[in-house]
Amino acid sequence: MRAASYARRSDSKGKKHDERSVEEQDALNLRAAQSNHWDLPPTRMYRDNDLSASRYSTKERPDWLALEKELNSGQLDVLLIWETSRAWRKLSEWVLLVDTCRDNKVLIHVTSHGRTYDPTQRRDRKTLIEEGVDSEDETEKTSERVKRAMEANRQQGRPHSRPPYGYAIEVDPTNHRAKIRVPVPELAPIVHEIIRRVARSEPVSAIAKDLNLRGIDSPSVAQGLKPHPRSQGKPQWSPAMVRKICTNEAYIGKRGLVDATWPPIVEDEGFEELFWKANNLIKDPERKTTKPGRAKYLLAFLGRCGVCNEYLTRMGGREGPDRYKCYAATGCVTIRMDWVDAAIGEAICNRLAKGDVLEQLTTRDNKDLYAELEELRADHQTALDLRSRKKLSLLALSQEEERILPRIEEIEKALRPVTLPQCIEDLTKDAQGNLQIIRTRWNRLDIPAKKDVVRTLIESIRILKTTVPGQHKTDEQIDNMLKARVKVKWVNEQ
Ligand SMILES: [Zn+2]
Repeated sequence: MRAASYARRSDSKGKKHDERSVEEQDALNLRAAQSNHWDLPPTRMYRDNDLSASRYSTKERPDWLALEKELNSGQLDVLLIWETSRAWRKLSEWVLLVDTCRDNKVLIHVTSHGRTYDPTQRRDRKTLIEEGVDSEDETEKTSERVKRAMEANRQQGRPHSRPPYGYAIEVDPTNHRAKIRVPVPELAPIVHEIIRRVARSEPVSAIAKDLNLRGIDSPSVAQGLKPHPRSQGKPQWSPAMVRKICTNEAYIGKRGLVDATWPPIVEDEGFEELFWKANNLIKDPERKTTKPGRAKYLLAFLGRCGVCNEYLTRMGGREGPDRYKCYAATGCVTIRMDWVDAAIGEAICNRLAKGDVLEQLTTRDNKDLYAELEELRADHQTALDLRSRKKLSLLALSQEEERILPRIEEIEKALRPVTLPQCIEDLTKDAQGNLQIIRTRWNRLDIPAKKDVVRTLIESIRILKTTVPGQHKTDEQIDNMLKARVKVKWVNEQ
């Protein structure tokens, strides 16, 4: 009989009493093969050292892939493994292996059991697969233990990793054995600047570019980290780094929503508010922010065609003033860009001058959501408890989680503090409803900031088909045409 063996080790540290090294597994498998008179040449002894096969591990295991190929070649009669749980902690992979053996009529010899299973036999297959379920459960338990420890740390607001950019670890002056996280005086203003600029709707790519132009060290350089071996030149700021800073609650001295043991990156009264603005802009991009650096036209991919509901885009390839056009191939509607943009700007300024708009946007009744969240969390905990007492199958647990977890995420998102983009507050601050002041400020905004204002205040803009073709020459004619064709629906409009 032609045999192959597969040996691997889950972890190089924390060796369990019954765990065998790869060499030991090889030796034991070889001895088993010899006593059964199976042909096991060194070329068919596959091994993966020091790589975790757990479903929480994403590393590739090269020999496992080679073995899979060998099994499918139809050249094997028996596969020797030391034991099931050490080798295949991922249930789906284990099942795949058992079934690959079944389909190719390969026996599975588990050396630690001293038994050979025939996966084409229903009972043997069942035994093997149940083994796999148990070992997957073991990994789940390990990973749960790690998660619980981290969660406990998190709830007490203790740090659990390297401090983020802008902080350093220092010895606590009041207790020389303890270490504390403190803001680095040279870096804290950079973090502050980034958060402030994102809150003002500056595109993250523009911010990253500017930091690089000014020669400010990127986080990995500032923290003295080793550059990636394949990276060329000094690591630069990227839009992703800017985004990461604006979504890291560590900078307002929090872990999750709990107060942390370290201070905010800057001691500034409005800083937390500013952080949430930036955070919301980054995390809720489809509602309020504009793709960084792309926005050139106010209503492109924002306003819609009143005929087919497609987005508007700029009409290309023609002389004369720019026009918006329906993005559909049919191009149902077109309209002059400068006229619509001016009309929308004017409508927004008028609305902001009225004043009560902002309040309308930020008031929200969250009582029901909080109640629902509590309930879902309790449900989840119950399911976990039942599972840990083996009263719930893995499958049932995962079905419960599929129901519960996405909804929890949705609610948590909805419960994040409501903030308006900074640019809206900048438009109205101290203007006391003076339309002229607001208008001047609006005209100074760049397109991405204007788009954020539009998205926050307006639910939809639709451009209807022209009904009265002909010349629009006087202001009155233009006004009437726009009034008839541009339909604006405000957010929270009664
Ligand atoms: Zn259309």
